[in-house]
Amino acid sequence: MLYIFDLDGTLVETYGIRPLDGIPVRLAKLQAEGHVMAVATNQAGPAWGLATGDGKYPQPRELGERFREIAKVLPQLATIPWFVSVGDPRLSLDTSAYTQLIRAFQAAGEPLDLHLSADPRWRKPGPEMLHAACAYYELPPEQAVFVGDYETDAAAAAAAGVTYISIEQFL
Ligand SMILES: [Mg+2]
Repeated sequence: MLYIFDLDGTLVETYGIRPLDGIPVRLAKLQAEGHVMAVATNQAGPAWGLATGDGKYPQPRELGERFREIAKVLPQLATIPWFVSVGDPRLSLDTSAYTQLIRAFQAAGEPLDLHLSADPRWRKPGPEMLHAACAYYELPPEQAVFVGDYETDAAAAAAAGVTYISIEQFL
């Protein structure tokens, strides 16, 4: 089975690096049982920062660092694909701005296996990040579950044909 995880509020405290209670044990158990895993997270903060010039949003470098710190605390995440939606259709950033943002984010996250896209269909509640995770493992949506904490996670799972499990149910 493929377990796809939302990041903030699911694996770790929102905008932090501290895992939710129970997550380290659950991830280790899934790995031991032979399940495969992926992360699917909306991270449009850098795009908002770029579009608005507002310093309250994280830079790509900060997000890349945060992801690497998380993978130190949750070592299973160091070797699995992360699907990251960096776009937001509410913003009018052009393709070259997104290309630069993705390049900076990718470099900051190395050596993590980051798959980044500004395609609006990737952004949850859209289904395409979950489909990308299934395609990576060559598994149909029926063999995947998505664990999340928010209504857009449930909606993305429904749109993708993937079973949804809330974090409360999962832990
Ligand atoms: Mg979340």
